[in-house]
Amino acid sequence: MNARRDKRATTIDIYKAWCKACGICAAFCPAGVLARDEAGYPYVKSPEKCISCGWCELRCPDFAITVHKKDKGFKDIDEEGEKEKLQGTPPPG
Ligand code: SF4
Ligand code: SF4
Repeated sequence: MNARRDKRATTIDIYKAWCKACGICAAFCPAGVLARDEAGYPYVKSPEKCISCGWCELRCPDFAITVHKKDKGFKDIDEEGEKEKLQGTPPPG
């Protein structure tokens, strides 16, 4: 049940190798989705609150964060991937 809901949610990817822990993304997030760990690196604390505004991606000076919006067809791509996986899976039993 939760997995189905997660597929439809916006996904936030943080590429830590490029992140300098400046905190801009967390500071600009209007929905409190992002938080920072002890070292200052951002992480997705409350993904269900994301409103897909894209501000974190726009404001990141190092292109270290990407927003995969639920209304941009990612759901369909994901479902195609699921279909391919299922086709390669032997029937149960
Ligand atoms: S897309 Fe908007 S609401 Fe979602 S994490 Fe980024 S800044 Fe926050
Ligand atoms: S704005 Fe970019 S570089 Fe700064 S903490 Fe967020 S992801 Fe890292």
